[in-house]
Amino acid sequence: SRSLAETDPEVAAAIAAELRRQQTTLEMIASENFAPVAVMQAQGSVLTNKYAEGYPGRRYYGGCEHVDVIEQLAIDRLKDLFGAEYANVQPHSGAQANAAAMAALLQPGDTILGLDLAHGGHLTHGMKLNFSGKLYDVAAYHVDRESHLVDMAEVERLAHERRPKLVVAGWSAYPRQLDFAEFRRIADEVGAYLMVDMAHFAGLVATGLHPSPVPHAHVVTSTTHKTLGGPRGGVILATAELGKKFNSAVFPGQQGGPLEHVIAGKAVAFKLAAEPAFRERQERTLDGARILADRLLAADCREAGVSVVSGGTDVHLVLVDLRDSVLDGKQAEDRLHAIGITVNRNAVPFDPRPPMVSSGVRIGTPALAARGFGREDFTEVADIIATALHPAVGDDGLAELRERVTRLADRHPLYPALDGAAR
Ligand code: PLP
Repeated sequence: SRSLAETDPEVAAAIAAELRRQQTTLEMIASENFAPVAVMQAQGSVLTNKYAEGYPGRRYYGGCEHVDVIEQLAIDRLKDLFGAEYANVQPHSGAQANAAAMAALLQPGDTILGLDLAHGGHLTHGMKLNFSGKLYDVAAYHVDRESHLVDMAEVERLAHERRPKLVVAGWSAYPRQLDFAEFRRIADEVGAYLMVDMAHFAGLVATGLHPSPVPHAHVVTSTTHKTLGGPRGGVILATAELGKKFNSAVFPGQQGGPLEHVIAGKAVAFKLAAEPAFRERQERTLDGARILADRLLAADCREAGVSVVSGGTDVHLVLVDLRDSVLDGKQAEDRLHAIGITVNRNAVPFDPRPPMVSSGVRIGTPALAARGFGREDFTEVADIIATALHPAVGDDGLAELRERVTRLADRHPLYPALDGAAR
C-alpha cells in the first residue's frame, strides 16, 4: 500500500522527470503519441495481476469473468472501428503481431516480399537480424529513385521471379499512401497472401482519412500506440475464415498470458477513436504534416540543401531529405534536440551516408495534434524547424528557437492532471 515515491524514489523521480520532459518539449517522433489519462488508468490497474491464457469464454484459468468482458469489448470495438470480421487484441506489440501473422500463414524457409528497411520498411518485414529475416527467405522491393514512390513494377516483377508466399505492404518511414488493390492484384497473380501492416497510419484509417487496407488484405496488423493513440501494443485483423489460424498463432503460438491491463487500455482507445473528436485530431495531424512539408520546400530551405522525400506528404509524417545539406541526419536530430524538438534521424532512399548518421530526419505530427496543436501552431513549429536546419544558425539563434518552442509548449499544457501524481 506504500506509494511509488515511498517504495522506490529513484524510479518515481525518473518518471516525474520524464513527465516534465514530455510537457516541456515538442514530441515529433512519428511513431509516438500521448495516451489519454483514461487509457493509462486502465493500464495501471489490477488487471496486471490476472492470468487469462486463452480467449474470452475459453480460458485456461479461473476467475476470468471480468477480463472476458474487457477483452470482448476490445475485440468488438476494434472490429467495428475497421469493419473487420475478425480481430485479435492480444499481441504484446506490433512486432509480435507480425510474427504471429507470419507464423500463421508461412513455414520457415518460405519467401516473403516486403519494402526494404532502407527505403522505409520495418524490421519485421524481412531485415536480416530480425526473426523475419532469419526464418524466411526475403525479397525486398524499393521506391523509385525519382518519385520516391513504391515501385509497383518492381513489386510485380519480384513477385513473379521470387514467388513469395506472403507480400507485405506497410511502412515505418514513407510519406505517401500505398495502392492496396494493386498489391492484392499482384499477390493474387502469384498465389500469395497479402499482409498490410498499418501500424503507422491506423489512426488515419480509423477516421476515414486514409484508404482502408481491410477490404483488400488477407490479414492486417497494427500497433495501437502510434496514430491510433492507445497503449503500446499490437492487434491483428482478418477475415472470419482465416481468423482461427491467427488465434492459435498468437496463443499458444507466440505468447502466454495476455496483458489484460493493456487490452483494457486498447478497449478505451478504440472507444475514443470512434468519437468525432478523434477524427478532428487526425485532421489536424494531417494539416500539420502538410504545413511542415510546405515550409521545408520553401526557397530558403532549398538553398540550405534541405528537401522533402517525395516532394510532400499524404500522411502524418515528413521525411526530411538532407542529402544536399552539410548537416547529416544525426546533426539535424541533435540541433532539434537542443531546441526542445524530439525527432529521429532516418535514412532516406538512396542515402549516401551510413545508417548511424544518415541523411534524413523523420518528423511526425500525431503527438502534437493530440496535445491540441492546430494550423497556427504547426505553422510556427514548421518555421522553427526550417530555421534550425539552416547550418548558419548558431548558438544564439538556437537559443531563440528554444524560447519559441517553450512558448508553444506552454500554450498547450500536457497532462496537467498528472502534475504531482508521482509524489
Ligand atoms: N510495424 C511497423 C510498420 C512499425 O513501424 C512498427 C514500429 O516501429 C512495428 C511494426 C513494431 O511495433 P512494436 O515496436 O510495437 O513492436
